[in-house]
Amino acid sequence: MTLPSHAEIVVIGGGIIGCSTAYHLARDHKADVVLLEQGTLTSGSTWHAAGLVGQLRSSASITRVLKYSVDLYKGLEAETGLATGWKMTGCLRLATNQDRWTEFRRLATTARSFGMDMHLVSPEDVKKMWPLMNVDDLVGASWLPTDGQASPSDITQSLAKGARLHGAKIVENVRVTGFEMKDGRIVAVKTTLGDIACEKVVNCAGQWARQVGAMAGINVPLQPVKHQYIITEKIDGLSTDAPTIRDPDRRTYFKEEVGGLVMGGYEPNPQPWTTGDVPDEWAFRLFDDDFDHFEQHMTQAIERVPALEKAGVKQMINGPESFTPDGNFILGVAPECKNMFVGAGFNAFGIASGGGAGWVLAQWVVDGEAPLDLWAGDIRRVSDMHRDRQWVLHRTLEAYGKHYAIAFPHEEYQSGRPRIVSPLYERLKARGAVFGSKLGWERPNWFAPEGEAPRDIYSMGRQNWFAAVGEEHRHVREAVGLFDQSSFAKYEITGPDALKALDWICANDVAKSAGRLTYTQLLNSRGGIEADLTVARLSDTTFYIVTGTGFRTHDLGWIADHLPEGLDVTLRDVTEDFGTLSLMGPRARDVLAAATDADVGNAAFPFAHVREIVIAGHVVRALRVTYVGELGWELHMPIAAAGDVFDTLMTAGAPSGIRPVGYRALESLRLEKGYRAWGADITPNDTPFDAGLGWAVKLRKNTDFLGRRALEAVRGEPRRKAFAGFTVDDPDIVLVGRETILRNGEPVGYLTSGGYGYTLGRNIGYGYVRRVDGLDGDFLRGGDYELVVAMERTPAKIHFEPLYDPSGARVRG
Ligand SMILES: Cc1cc2nc3c(=O)[nH]c(=O)nc-3n(C[C@H](O)[C@H](O)[C@H](O)COP(=O)(O)OP(=O)(O)OC[C@H]3O[C@@H](n4cnc5c(N)ncnc54)[C@H](O)[C@@H]3O)c2cc1C
Repeated sequence: MTLPSHAEIVVIGGGIIGCSTAYHLARDHKADVVLLEQGTLTSGSTWHAAGLVGQLRSSASITRVLKYSVDLYKGLEAETGLATGWKMTGCLRLATNQDRWTEFRRLATTARSFGMDMHLVSPEDVKKMWPLMNVDDLVGASWLPTDGQASPSDITQSLAKGARLHGAKIVENVRVTGFEMKDGRIVAVKTTLGDIACEKVVNCAGQWARQVGAMAGINVPLQPVKHQYIITEKIDGLSTDAPTIRDPDRRTYFKEEVGGLVMGGYEPNPQPWTTGDVPDEWAFRLFDDDFDHFEQHMTQAIERVPALEKAGVKQMINGPESFTPDGNFILGVAPECKNMFVGAGFNAFGIASGGGAGWVLAQWVVDGEAPLDLWAGDIRRVSDMHRDRQWVLHRTLEAYGKHYAIAFPHEEYQSGRPRIVSPLYERLKARGAVFGSKLGWERPNWFAPEGEAPRDIYSMGRQNWFAAVGEEHRHVREAVGLFDQSSFAKYEITGPDALKALDWICANDVAKSAGRLTYTQLLNSRGGIEADLTVARLSDTTFYIVTGTGFRTHDLGWIADHLPEGLDVTLRDVTEDFGTLSLMGPRARDVLAAATDADVGNAAFPFAHVREIVIAGHVVRALRVTYVGELGWELHMPIAAAGDVFDTLMTAGAPSGIRPVGYRALESLRLEKGYRAWGADITPNDTPFDAGLGWAVKLRKNTDFLGRRALEAVRGEPRRKAFAGFTVDDPDIVLVGRETILRNGEPVGYLTSGGYGYTLGRNIGYGYVRRVDGLDGDFLRGGDYELVVAMERTPAKIHFEPLYDPSGARVRG
């Protein structure tokens, strides 16, 4: 087949993801799309996948994506005439110990929060559903009846046929060899059969996506890892509609296939493939069988299904799959090249994701923004650190090895650390800091008191740091604490049109005089919240923006992408230029006054202002803001000065009892104040009205801004969801998020974040109460609320005001 000389959109890769994306681009958007495959369709990772299709993830939106896949696979044959092999067998997950059982109770609650009917069943029930299984060691199992299995190649061929039916062109045996670039954008795709001029490119090249991305200068941090399973001969007594099994405590999974079993697993000692380029010639290829490495799975599986011992192994599959450092896929527009979109890194759930990933990616390609909150899989969650192949390798292998490990709350990765440390690292370590890592930065989570080992001991209940964090929390409420927040992402926007640009991008009014701060959201065209940050006006033409550590690439990319054309403005990432120390607590002013000659009294330096002050001979940008609900300042100094400023504050603060405080106390403090966390409480799915942040939107001003039209359109409509706080008195309850909210016994939403408020002495959760027919204050106040926590109902109180210092007097004092 000859290539067209031009296509609006070129999709690279004919695996399940590329075919699904092309199908949705053609079906939903009538796009002019051509898909290029270097071999033949499915010849990469797709053809050898086992075909288990699970749906539940910890993100509601990603779960929705996976549910969409199932709905699509069910109905695709009717449209294309090609079967997908979809069988809704249901899935059993087995628990053999109490921690795993608690995890499943929480998982089942999450599933119900997301509208899926997951049950918990007894070992006897499991035996009835799967008679060949040994259930002696089981505590129980979770049962999700709507999960199933499908034939990866058949689905892909069916999607490809559907794509063609809707007008897409698919060309096989053509390799993409490079891109013609102009002004940082791709203008043509170079191939072994000639060039195609195009407007947009979608990189669905599977394990080759890293090197295809590199041809356009973009980073796709994935690592091919060998993954093995066996297919057995027929096993007597195995039903053809046997549920799929996940046996995480034995690290294995099972699926029925033509009367035999597919069995594979996730070993703690995974085998990476190349850290160089993946060879071009790899169509339909596998690695040699590695029974030695696989034996660990075989031993475990035989104990679970004794009939396996005598079953003949028909085939062993040892194939490469792309895994990523955090176990989530990589989706969306590349920050380095505005017209390359990526759908790759599917961590052995690409078949389960395929349908839905193609749907959202196609929408993203057409609209230029994600259609829902896909943050967990967004390519903008990575940073320059992810260009380091060795770092990606080690972290990815750790994530693979943990695939079936019990997911304890607050667990931290260990590999590739420390990567980025602030100048205070050694000082804080000497004071007992226990660090976590965020986008490479080591950050103190808490400080172990004298005599206590500085390390986390994970458990499903209250963990070993609980009391120590309580002390840190109280210290901030009653005296003063110092947080090292040097990892904050920071940008500067400068130039004669800087204000004009920010006026368009920010929902709140940043057109204030120099020296003022604004807390604002950045909205997408649907009015959904894409970022939540502070903008400080340093001069008429200079603005300083501070946002969360993990959002560095995302927020910078969002701002850069939405700067209106033709404005004279420069955007710069200055994260590493500045260290940040947050001095917070009722005695913060005493400490600051002792450390600087500047007037830090309330009249000279009110809340929401920024001033340059001098501490220890260094010029410091002092921002009077707070994320803990107390009097305080964020102090931004040249990073090399962070040590001096820290030492000076610690000395000046000694009479006030100053001490360093960590991120876990910060979380507890912010929960009491009801400050929203982006990515959890506020996401692209939520408008400021939904989130109770309408006060931070400049609708009364006559300035147009991104998202305004969408907000105006919904302003007069009934509200369908409302953000609220919940408290639970039972001290034994542990809230981790995603617990179901019941109103008068009926589910109305789920928690977006949860934790413990030490000043309140109660558990705190936040979430949206939802009602399709609309809701108002009477509805919200007029119900009795409960939370479902790990499948148990517990009474809860609803709140609409901050739980701590609702008037904000302490912040402004
Ligand atoms: C052993 C094993 C078992 C698995 N089991 C399951 C399972 O049970 N359930 C599940 O959901 N997932 C499973 N997976 C994962 C699943 O196979 C993958 O996630 C999925 O196939 C990825 O699809 P893809 O389209 O991203 O990649 P691929 O199928 O690899 O497709 C990428 C395509 O891009 C093409 N390409 C690359 N470079 C170029 C270029 N320069 N020009 C043109 N074309 C190019 C390649 O030839 C390839 O065909 C398993 C994986 C393995 C290895």
